[in-house]
Amino acid sequence: MNVLRLSIAEVSRALREGQLSPTELCRKCLNRIKRTRHLNAYITVTEEAAMKQAEEAEMRLQNGTPKGPLDGIPFAVKDNFCTENILTTCASKMLGGYVPPFNATVVQKLLDQGAVLVGKTNLDEFAMGAGSTDGAFGPVRNPWSDAETYRQHGGPEAQTDWVITGGSSGGSAAAVASLSSFFSLGSDTGGSTRNPGALCGLVAVKPTYGLLSRHGLIPLVNSMDVPGIMARTARDAATVLGILQGQDMLDATTIPSLPGQPDLPEDFDIKQITVGIPQEYHAPGLSPEVLGQWCRVAGLFEEAGVQVKPVSLPHTQFSIVCYHVLCCCEVASNMARFDGLEYGHRSPVASSTEALYAATRHEGFNHVVRRRILSGNYFLLKQNYERYFVKAQQVRRLIADDFSKVFGSGVDVLLTPTTLSDAASYRDFMQEDNRTRSAQEDVFTQPANMAGLPAVTLPTALSSRGLPIGLQLIGRPLQDRKLLAVAHWMEQRLGFPHIRFHGDHQEQETTSTTEEREEGTTAVGA
Ligand code: GLN
Repeated sequence: MNVLRLSIAEVSRALREGQLSPTELCRKCLNRIKRTRHLNAYITVTEEAAMKQAEEAEMRLQNGTPKGPLDGIPFAVKDNFCTENILTTCASKMLGGYVPPFNATVVQKLLDQGAVLVGKTNLDEFAMGAGSTDGAFGPVRNPWSDAETYRQHGGPEAQTDWVITGGSSGGSAAAVASLSSFFSLGSDTGGSTRNPGALCGLVAVKPTYGLLSRHGLIPLVNSMDVPGIMARTARDAATVLGILQGQDMLDATTIPSLPGQPDLPEDFDIKQITVGIPQEYHAPGLSPEVLGQWCRVAGLFEEAGVQVKPVSLPHTQFSIVCYHVLCCCEVASNMARFDGLEYGHRSPVASSTEALYAATRHEGFNHVVRRRILSGNYFLLKQNYERYFVKAQQVRRLIADDFSKVFGSGVDVLLTPTTLSDAASYRDFMQEDNRTRSAQEDVFTQPANMAGLPAVTLPTALSSRGLPIGLQLIGRPLQDRKLLAVAHWMEQRLGFPHIRFHGDHQEQETTSTTEEREEGTTAVGA
């Protein structure tokens, strides 16, 4: 059995029982990163620091004093979280050479628990995008492009026909799906954790706004950003959530931890819940296969005696356009700090302060970021402010009120698709511009960010192209754990996590060192 395919719960047990040591495990993950370099999942690999952290975990395990369930477990972090003494780029030239002097709170919490940081992952520049195709370090390739299932189903004929991970946290999704880390952190402003999570076959969580600290997460839209979690099972995601949650003096929007145990309840009674199916999510462009999965899972709930009822969220259709206005406004203000004086890139053109600002920002930002800054400043002009920004805030309230009404009518959980279809090929995806792509990709994920609600995506099946399809659960504020309990129940019935992609043929093709060969052999025999 290839240990890299285990869940956190399983590998943690293997470490405690001494079947494997943290340094062996870390080495395997680092080797795996090398062999899957073509995915472009990582911007920075923190090999030396990771090995040191693994050695420390090893000492603790040997002494019988492990810190908790994550001690010695390798993980990856999206490169828009600050990491002490580790390059943090947001996949932008603008942050070239920026090495933060501190860790984001969520990263610090994981390190405090003994988890081993193997690297910083690739993304769309400043998390603006839905494909992980628009960063300064090039696009991320979905590991499922290498999967035997995808090849059997008419996979890549030409080099350009690989599929995207979704975004913007595509590197974090590829890291877990390609087995070089056991879980990862993404950020989610409009779907950036759930979208790639779904397209890469993972469980991905967007927690209730404020439950996880944003301190050290380089902001996109402060009023919507949350750190997100990607893992292989709902139980693993709950473990990580339990560690990351809670109030932080460094983020005034944080709220206290959820009451009760972080673990999922063993005796969760699915019949207690009422599931709502929002009719507006039957949106134009929804693929028949995703629709089929949606109906199938709704049917599974009904068979189990769960009440499933249609509900309406009438303002759903305005969510994307409303997001676009609010996002650009917050971006315009957030990006103002990158002026060539404090962080990262500074243009050599410095004939005046204005010239320095202009040249630095022109050279540092890609066209997506520049366009959003321009739009945001336009929406915020004195004569436009009421017409765009204020109006969008009012619409945001209506969207949030739709959810409140539905949850007030006795619905506990909404079941929706996560994406319109399975992952697009890179070639098809790049036919549209960044804004259009985001508008298409985020239709189902974005409303939960507008309302600050918790949402989880989990894989339910493979499409006819051999690629993962995910469904989403949205819940009431602070019902994050209930969502994961429902996701766990679904996992048991759907059995998907057991597929856990491992890209065997890739290992056979490219293994080189003895150590790598050994690992490859174990993997193939698994
Ligand atoms: N796709 C959306 C955007 O481009 C959301 C991104 C995100 O969640 N970070 O802004």
